[in-house]
Amino acid sequence: MYGIFSYGIASPRVGFKHGDYALDLEVVGLLGYFNDLAIDPAVFAQPVLNGFIALGKPTHLAVRQRLKELLADEAHAFDDVHDQVFIHQSRVQMHLPVRIGDYTDFYAGIHHAENVGRMFRPNADPLLPNYRHMPVAYHGRASSIVVSGTPIRRPNGQFLDGDKQPVFGPSQKLDFELELGLVIGKSNPLGEPVSIAEAEDYIFGVTLFNDWSARDIQRWEYQPLGPFLGKNFASSISAWVVPLADLEPFRVVGPTQQPTPLPYLQSNHPAHFDLDLEVWLQPADHDEICISRTNTRYLYWSFAQMITHHTVNGCNLNVGDILATGTISGPEASDHLPGSYGSLLELSWNGEHPLHISESVTRTFLVDGDQVTLRATARNKHKAIELGEVAGKIYS
Ligand code: CA
Repeated sequence: MYGIFSYGIASPRVGFKHGDYALDLEVVGLLGYFNDLAIDPAVFAQPVLNGFIALGKPTHLAVRQRLKELLADEAHAFDDVHDQVFIHQSRVQMHLPVRIGDYTDFYAGIHHAENVGRMFRPNADPLLPNYRHMPVAYHGRASSIVVSGTPIRRPNGQFLDGDKQPVFGPSQKLDFELELGLVIGKSNPLGEPVSIAEAEDYIFGVTLFNDWSARDIQRWEYQPLGPFLGKNFASSISAWVVPLADLEPFRVVGPTQQPTPLPYLQSNHPAHFDLDLEVWLQPADHDEICISRTNTRYLYWSFAQMITHHTVNGCNLNVGDILATGTISGPEASDHLPGSYGSLLELSWNGEHPLHISESVTRTFLVDGDQVTLRATARNKHKAIELGEVAGKIYS
């Protein structure tokens, strides 16, 4: 996984996560290990990954292969320069990994979409008529995306009180959303759509993504134009980005899509991924507990379909853009923790069923001092990869 780190007086730079260490890729480059790949080490001395990402997939694969060789136990490549190239995680500060141009938030978790529909439109079909025909999304706000560990301030806003009258104040229904973020790795020219066959070429990598949401503000403002202040006060992204190629062993066939989507969204290529996802909640002065377990295979639409649909009208994506999947909930309602839903809105059913965290602690929505941590692991018979976690603590 790649990220941006600093330590001591060193300026922010590109690192590769290796166990508990960040491998300093600028130093590795200056030692000459990338010379035959024709990569200028200066690309690793930058405070964002965008320059490295823009070098393109063949270069990423060559660097990844070189790092595999250098980091193999028998290589002993860095024995003499260990302290120069490996910086222990206790000494590093992590930074936002990419300069994000645009952020789009999809709604591809079908169980989440159904749950929200059941809650807010109880007498109608839980899914709106377009849901199974296209991956719906809205354009989010890039400026308020922060790196894991950044404290999250409870937003103020307008919402309806118990008498259905608009009031202004701190959100009473602050929530998280368990999502993945795709880091776009390649730009398409304005006016030129990306076909479904090419779509994954446009993904550099994947992160965990917490799309913090103020449900009371969202509920009052969202019609007719959709999410705004209930969403744009903060989203948190992991410090480390996993290259999509590293997730290749965990590729799976997605859910059957019925009705069959229009031809531009059709593909026979397995385009879903099997990643176990967890949400952990730690109230102040309390142990951390796992409140939800789910899996990325519950996404209805694939990453490739999201990119193809996003660009089908000619919209241009740029290197460093973030596409988030939407909340990934599992299918199961559960009377005990952990559940499988990816938000408190669903886990507490809009506050109707408080979660019992411990004998003395219950939750419907987040209170100040709560820390939420999203974690993900990809595993099969042969290997397991932990994605970079994303954590944030609420304050007022
Ligand atoms: Ca979202």
